[in-house]
Amino acid sequence: MTFECPLCNSFAAIELVCHICESIPLVDQGREADFYDDYSPYEPIESVKQNDGYQDKAHECPHVLACPTCGMSDVYLIEEWMT
Ligand SMILES: [Zn+2]
Ligand SMILES: [Zn+2]
Repeated sequence: MTFECPLCNSFAAIELVCHICESIPLVDQGREADFYDDYSPYEPIESVKQNDGYQDKAHECPHVLACPTCGMSDVYLIEEWMT
């Protein structure tokens, strides 16, 4: 039994609602780790530290999702599917 992230594996297009302007869909910007590597290699973001360890405990995959309408981008934990 394994768990796989539907976004990483293109199982499905997941439509998440922007929590700012409520438009759909948000655009997947990739996994959180990739995002921070590219975006700010020299400036660790404090929120990552606050959530230290969460990547290990649950079957969830952190993705950065952006809203093309209002420009919001945030980390969403995508629930992984049992396969
Ligand atoms: Zn994923
Ligand atoms: Zn928005």
